[in-house]
Amino acid sequence: MLETSILVIYTGGTAGMAYNKQGELVPMNFEHIRRKMPELHQLHMQVHVVNLGPPIDSSNITVADWLRLAALIRDNYTRYDGFVVLHGTDTMAYSAAALSFLLENLGKTVVFTGAQVPVGRIRTDARRNLVTALEMAAARYPRAGTVRVPEVCVFFNELLIRGNRAKKVESQQYNAFRSENYPPLAKAGIELEFNDKQIRLLPAAPLRAHQRLDDRVTILKLFPGITERQVQAQLGADDLRGCVLETYGSGNAPTAPWFVECLRAARERGVQLLNVSQCEEGRVVQGRYETSSHLTELGVIGGDDITVEAAITKLMFVLGLERDEATTRRLLGQDLRGEITPI
Ligand code: ASP
Repeated sequence: MLETSILVIYTGGTAGMAYNKQGELVPMNFEHIRRKMPELHQLHMQVHVVNLGPPIDSSNITVADWLRLAALIRDNYTRYDGFVVLHGTDTMAYSAAALSFLLENLGKTVVFTGAQVPVGRIRTDARRNLVTALEMAAARYPRAGTVRVPEVCVFFNELLIRGNRAKKVESQQYNAFRSENYPPLAKAGIELEFNDKQIRLLPAAPLRAHQRLDDRVTILKLFPGITERQVQAQLGADDLRGCVLETYGSGNAPTAPWFVECLRAARERGVQLLNVSQCEEGRVVQGRYETSSHLTELGVIGGDDITVEAAITKLMFVLGLERDEATTRRLLGQDLRGEITPI
């Protein structure tokens, strides 16, 4: 029987970092990781590594990097059984969400992972995270041999999380990520336990790796005291095409005339407004309160229980499709890749 082969795409992040003379953590190339991880040769699978570019701290990740990642997976799709993306934790949830939208009809596993402590440190979590991510990427149903998790996901600490539901919630502990409004897809204890019912089915159509994202988008986070000038500065940008509105509670926002006017003006210029709650749990229900009914009237789209990370990347993706207004609005409001839970 042929050995499983997994492609690791190395982007950088703490896993592969080391301290420089100034005592700062800086990215190193993959050889640094390979030297510290003899277990990579002991796995019962072939592991090939490719660099996305020079290794970076994920605070420097760009939309162009996401498109390159999607293209790299597309170009190697038939050659490998699964993919692991080694990535910094800071923006991992954004990258995983972006890739979940770009890779339509994904029939293989793409696992993002990284570490809180560099691979060279004695208490590193890099080795365990990478080894388990490789096992997750290679996972098959025992008898049928079919791909167990045909999704873009994040593996960290002990949880496999749908990529567009992941959120970084910790910068000091090992459990850096949480699955928002959706159960984890698998748990890695002594055994790997898959939550099969929560995992997406294998697609019927072939992979389609999209190559367009529209970055003319922004996130407007509301807070009591926000001023007209601040809202106007963000919503009034000439080329703006979409905005994630981070609202309160179940999707509520001020009813002050100046605020309503700012939203109306943006809508008249064709800007798509996607309503996402600042609450970590629950969902947006426009119309539950008087303070959200006006949003529906203004044409704001309810984001249900989507995360901000998934919402901003979904906006980029859907706007990048360049569809007509009605289709764009329909796609923004509906579940595309398991990022929202329809009621
Ligand atoms: N700043 C690092 C990064 O995101 C943090 C990490 O990897 O954990 O690249």
